[in-house]
Amino acid sequence: MTRQYATDDPALEVDLVQLLFTDVAGRLKTLEVPADRWAEVRDRGWTLDGSVLLGYGDPEHSDLRLRPDPATFVHRPWTTPAGRTVGLVFCDVLDAAGQPFAADPRAVLRRAVAAAEARGQSPVFGVEAEFYLLRAAAPGTAGEPADGAGYWDLSVDEQADEVCRDIAEALALMGLTVDGHHHEVCPGQRELVFRHGGALETADRLLLLKHTAKVMARRRNLSAVFMPKPLAHLYGNALHVHVSLDGEAGPLFHDAADADGMSELFRHSLAGVLDHAPALTALGNPSVNSYKRLVPASGTPVHASWARHNRSTAFKVAGDTAAPRSLRLELRSPDPSANPHLLFAGVLAAFADGQDRALKLPEACEEPADTLTAADLAARGIAALPTDLPTALRALEEDATVRAALGELAAGAVVRNSRSDWAAWHRVVTPWEIEQYAQTV
Ligand code: GLU
Ligand code: MG
Repeated sequence: MTRQYATDDPALEVDLVQLLFTDVAGRLKTLEVPADRWAEVRDRGWTLDGSVLLGYGDPEHSDLRLRPDPATFVHRPWTTPAGRTVGLVFCDVLDAAGQPFAADPRAVLRRAVAAAEARGQSPVFGVEAEFYLLRAAAPGTAGEPADGAGYWDLSVDEQADEVCRDIAEALALMGLTVDGHHHEVCPGQRELVFRHGGALETADRLLLLKHTAKVMARRRNLSAVFMPKPLAHLYGNALHVHVSLDGEAGPLFHDAADADGMSELFRHSLAGVLDHAPALTALGNPSVNSYKRLVPASGTPVHASWARHNRSTAFKVAGDTAAPRSLRLELRSPDPSANPHLLFAGVLAAFADGQDRALKLPEACEEPADTLTAADLAARGIAALPTDLPTALRALEEDATVRAALGELAAGAVVRNSRSDWAAWHRVVTPWEIEQYAQTV
C-alpha cells in the first residue's frame, strides 16, 4: 500500500472514483465512476432515488442529487485486483430544489454542528470501535474467534494481529491518525482507536474504518464483524463515543475551580443526555441484536447513570482534570450498528436542551451497577435503559428534542426501518424456543 499525494484535483490521479454517502441506517453506499467522468460528476453531481437513503420507496423524494464534498477526497491505499487505483469521496445529498436533503445523515449532522456553533460551542468527537475477527464456521453462526487471547493480551496468533496492522496502516494512508489498537476482552475481539476530530469528520471516518476493517480481514480469510452481539456466550461490541465542546477561549467542559474539574456547562450537558437517554438509545442501539448486548454483567451499561470513575455506567466523565482539553463525556452504551451521524446529532441536541433548561445533574453513581438493588436505583432516581427495540423506538417518537434534531423525515425513517426489523424478528421461531417449549408445553 502506498500513499499518493494530491495535486489540485486529486481525483485526476486515480482510475476510479467511488462516491460515498450513507443511508439512514448508517451503511455506506456508493456509486463508482471512471476517472474520465469525474470532472462532470464533481461539477454537476449525480441523480439518485431517495429510497436508497431512506430504505423504502417514497415518491416525494425520488429526485435527489449527490454532490461530492472534495475536502473528503482520499486515495484508497489498496488497488482493485486488476491493479487499478481508486479514490473515495464523501458526498452531500441535495433535494430537487438543490437544498440539503432533509434525511441525509451528513446534512442532519451538519445542521446539529451549525446549531452548536451558533452557541459558540465547537463539538469534538472520538470513537472506540470494537469488532470481532472471526474465522468461517458452521452455517448460521457469525464464525469462530480468530484467536484465543484476552484483554490487551500479546497474542501469538499473528494472523489476527496482521489484520489489525493492515487496517491501521490503510487508515493512516487515508489520513487518519491511528492512536492504537489492542485485544479486547474476549477471544477474537479487537479495538481500534483513531484521533478525535470534528463531528462530521469522525462520523465519516468511522464508516471508513468499518469498511476498511472488513476488506482487510477478508484478504486474510477472516471476517471483521461489528454486529453488537455476534456470539451469544461472549461480550458484545461497543462503540464508545467521546465528546466535548470547545469554545473560543478553550475547552468548555473544564473548570479548574470545580472539585471534579467539571464546568456548569458540562453538568447541564450531561444532565441533558441523561434526560434524553431513552431516545438516544434508539439511535445508539438501533438493531434487534443491539439488545442482546445491553444485558447485565457483560461489560455493558444497563442503566442511565453517570460516573467519574465507574465504567459500568452509560455515561462516564473521561480524561484528566489536570489536562483541560482531555476532559470529556464518554457514552458507553452505543454499539457499532448505530448511524454515527444521527447519533452525534442527537447527542448535541440533548446537550443543548440540558443547557437551555439548566438541568440539574443527579449524583454520580460510583458503585458497580450490578451491586445496586432495585430499591437503591429507585432511591437515586436511576432508570433502566430500554431493554428492547420497540421501547427505545417509542422513546424516540416521544422525544420532541431528539426528533427535531433529526428532522421528521430522518426520524420517521429510523423508526420505520427499525420497527420493520423488529417485526421480521418477532416472526422468527428460534432454536431456543423449540428447546424450551416443544416438549414441555
Ligand atoms: N465490549 C464491552 C461492551 O460491549 C465494552 C468493553 C470495554 O470496556 O471496552 O460494552
Ligand atoms: Mg473497549
